[in-house]
Amino acid sequence: MSAEELKTHSAVHVLKGAVERVLGARWTSSVYVSGRHGRLTVKFDREPTGEELSAIERLTNEKVAEGAEVLEFEMERQEAEGHFGEAIYELLPVPPEVTMLKIVRIPDWNVDCCNESHVDSTLQIGGIRLGKHRVSRSRGELELEFDLAE
Ligand SMILES: [Zn+2]
Repeated sequence: MSAEELKTHSAVHVLKGAVERVLGARWTSSVYVSGRHGRLTVKFDREPTGEELSAIERLTNEKVAEGAEVLEFEMERQEAEGHFGEAIYELLPVPPEVTMLKIVRIPDWNVDCCNESHVDSTLQIGGIRLGKHRVSRSRGELELEFDLAE
């Protein structure tokens, strides 16, 4: 992962927290990151309003500007599930044979099971700008594209 992708990937975690708060949307089925561009897919089955999209972008950038800590730690799977519940599996499915999980947590914001590397502070992300979005009603999915802000 390039230094830029480290930021873009970390931004996905911050964005997820905002999407969850604004849309109540969960269970991300896929995440895509390339350079400064990222895409997050969440379970959601209607067109988000302009207000909702603005709120998602604003909340994400507020969390970025806050310089929140991005904590990475390992935890026994059973303990992690007891502690955080199924929420940790939103980003990636984890095979049943895996017993040790790498957890990424932005306190009071978002927690995920994720093997990638992350920035130490959300401040390093700089900021994001939402791009195109697409709703698939048949799949009940919403794709949100974003770029790291200049
Ligand atoms: Zn991650």
